[in-house]
Amino acid sequence: MTKEIFKEDPYKKNCISKIINIGNNWVELDETIFYAEGGGQLGDTGIIKTQNKEITIENTIRENNSIKHITSSKIDIGIGSTVDCIIDWERRYKLMKMHTCLHLLCSIIDAKVTGGSVTDDKGRLDFNLDFKPNKEDLKIKLNNLIQGNYEVSYSWISEKELDENPNLVKTMSVAPPRRNGTIRMVRIGDNIDYQPCGGTHVKHTSEIGSVNITKVENKGKLNKRVVVSFL
Ligand SMILES: [Zn+2]
Repeated sequence: MTKEIFKEDPYKKNCISKIINIGNNWVELDETIFYAEGGGQLGDTGIIKTQNKEITIENTIRENNSIKHITSSKIDIGIGSTVDCIIDWERRYKLMKMHTCLHLLCSIIDAKVTGGSVTDDKGRLDFNLDFKPNKEDLKIKLNNLIQGNYEVSYSWISEKELDENPNLVKTMSVAPPRRNGTIRMVRIGDNIDYQPCGGTHVKHTSEIGSVNITKVENKGKLNKRVVVSFL
């Protein structure tokens, strides 16, 4: 199984990895800094390099417990070879910022999340809510939390603890990632947000920068969509 460096150090932009498996349009590494698409966050892109070859990674996905780095065609490098991995940091940092921003959004709307997505220019969350939250009010609260420069920290709980505390799960559409019987919990500030998450986050909320609420939409009687973008 691939060691997930992006989880321990989301700021790592490059690393040296070993190829452990190759398919028609993918490569598997012994350890990776490429975030695998999941939880509404897009997979990382970038390049892997040998001394004389440079291969573009178009996406990174999780499939049957392995992380596949998607290439445009079968790559001609032997299993066991060492490669330099470089992620498209500019894109990933935006994804990290927007993903963390959605945690904050989640904390100011008291409703379960029914869906969501994060791209490098916007993020959206759908809430199980019977009224439309006020756009201006959301914008002020969200930017206040961002400017509060709260720390993002991690801890781990057992699957049993999570099962005994179902309220820790705020997202109905995405099951918390379970790995080796433990669940990673993400906390912002002392108690602004606390929920299971396998995504990539910034260290401090001020890194997100100013954001705008571009839309608050009615997507059904019990479904309200909030769209956020960078200012
Ligand atoms: Zn997260």
